[in-house]
Amino acid sequence: MAAAAAPTADGNISCGADIAGLQDRPAKLQEMPEFQKKTVHIKDPAKVEEIICGLIKGGAARLQIITDFDMTLSRFSHNGKRCPTCHNVIDNCKYVSDECRKKLYELKDKYYAIEIDPDLTIKEKYPYMIEWYTKSHTLLIEQAIQKDKLTEVVRESDIMLKEGYETFFDKLHEHSIPVFIFSAGLGDVLEEAIRQSGVYFPNIKVISNFMDFDENGVIKGFKGELIHVYNKHDGALKRTEYFNQLKDSSNIILLGDSLGDLTMADGVSNVEHILKIGYLNDKVEELLEKYMNSYDIVLVKDESLDVANSILQKIL
Ligand code: C5P
Ligand code: MG
Repeated sequence: MAAAAAPTADGNISCGADIAGLQDRPAKLQEMPEFQKKTVHIKDPAKVEEIICGLIKGGAARLQIITDFDMTLSRFSHNGKRCPTCHNVIDNCKYVSDECRKKLYELKDKYYAIEIDPDLTIKEKYPYMIEWYTKSHTLLIEQAIQKDKLTEVVRESDIMLKEGYETFFDKLHEHSIPVFIFSAGLGDVLEEAIRQSGVYFPNIKVISNFMDFDENGVIKGFKGELIHVYNKHDGALKRTEYFNQLKDSSNIILLGDSLGDLTMADGVSNVEHILKIGYLNDKVEELLEKYMNSYDIVLVKDESLDVANSILQKIL
């Protein structure tokens, strides 16, 4: 059980003044400048303070990160222009024919609208997501995408990690905090993007849709079971071997941008404290309430990792 945070005489939350040094690191949101930004929405600040206190108490030894990739670690927009998802990096690249690109864009228009539709349930969206991935992955196979072109394709793309990504990944690496990147994007593109950004450290484990190449390095299919936006619960339960290795890491910071990302930690059996941070990028007005009821912290049109970094600063 999480110990309740005890208020001190000045109203601060002490986070366990019994533990040496922690008195100096109170988790009072009002005093954390990153939480004062207009992008930050919290339904229950006291609960968030209590969770952060639990994370501080557990320190590096108990912490693990479980995060989505597209539109969570990567940017949704930059200078008013939409940034690509992993899939869009391929959709836009010069190795895809114009005719195929047109089909991929049409699929995106149809199915992305369904993905974020505030009036449909996850159950209703689920079969459409399978349809989208099946159709778009079939097109990529038809285009005979080559493995050795991916470095160039990612380099020439507009994919960008969120502001503050260096601090985020460096700090987690420095303290050997396990980072589980769980993405319904394309693993090959994702890995190349974090490698080119210089932050693909050994503490990172990537679970995603990886292309399967033939002996000539030409795509022939995809490895393993499909991960789409709304089946992360099933994917998480299949990774219990990874999570079981991290038995002591019972404190989690979960980062996502879709309501489907909320199930990414379902494979962890020993959760003590979990802080769920959700980026809300699109359909803000329609979805804000739903997001605030599901995520502990909602970051609206926020292209930075500032809030996560400020919390890590207190824990590590
Ligand atoms: O990393 P993450 O799980 O967010 O990756 C999934 C994202 O990829 C979805 O939000 C979806 O919009 C996007 N996607 C895409 N093109 C596809 C399939 C998914 O852009 N063909
Ligand atoms: Mg995402």
